[in-house]
Amino acid sequence: MAYRSEQLALYLNLAASCLDESNGFLSCLIDTPTKITRPSGNHEETQCLAMPGTLWIANNDDGDTDAQQELLDTLGIDTHDALVAHVDAYQTLVLKHHAGKLTRQNLPSGKQKYLYDLASLDGAIPDEKPAVTPLPERTANNVSYSLSSSKPPPVRGIVFIKGAYTGSDRPHGNMHAEQKLLAALHKCYSRALFKGVHVFGCKVACTTCAAVLKTAKQRLASKGVALKYEDPIAERIRLAAGLPQVNPGNIRDLDFSTYFT
Ligand SMILES: [Zn+2]
Repeated sequence: MAYRSEQLALYLNLAASCLDESNGFLSCLIDTPTKITRPSGNHEETQCLAMPGTLWIANNDDGDTDAQQELLDTLGIDTHDALVAHVDAYQTLVLKHHAGKLTRQNLPSGKQKYLYDLASLDGAIPDEKPAVTPLPERTANNVSYSLSSSKPPPVRGIVFIKGAYTGSDRPHGNMHAEQKLLAALHKCYSRALFKGVHVFGCKVACTTCAAVLKTAKQRLASKGVALKYEDPIAERIRLAAGLPQVNPGNIRDLDFSTYFT
């Protein structure tokens, strides 16, 4: 699969939305009567952070994180590579509400158009929605990590990042997924386990998160860690799908007297 990392975040985000609409029944994604117990969330945004050997996943709403963890556990997906293979095979199943041929025009949301366009880059998008296949028997036991933990986050396999980060200008504002990932990264970056980190999601960072990412990038660079969070090709396609940068306001911004000092 020739893929852009953003496809992983989009798939997870849209899968959580599908599961919510189907009251948790995985039959919307795969041929099984299995039901997950925690399908709630606002599906606003999913972001991932990739380092060698690990993939962290966070959402604006931790309810989506719970749903995605239960989904990947049930599907037996516990590595970055396994998730890539799954998304390659199943990403068109979350492009729902189309009749007949699967075309960009009948997709109802910007996120779905964006995923369709990314998946079409390598010409892999099929004309028709593929048939679902049976659920594999293997199950996984992925871990979640709370930002309130005093321990550093795991850096192996898939890790779901949840909880609250400390903010400065808006200490009581809403929290965004990419800043949850950065707050977790702060707890392990000084161990020099990695030299490069990639953050990617469904939407371009809002103005608050963009400013935080810029500062974090500068501070990490001074420690010899390269932070990548912009993909020019994905950015062009994202804008074409109607997902421009927004400034929702009242977003808690990472307190740099606490993080990456
Ligand atoms: Zn944001």
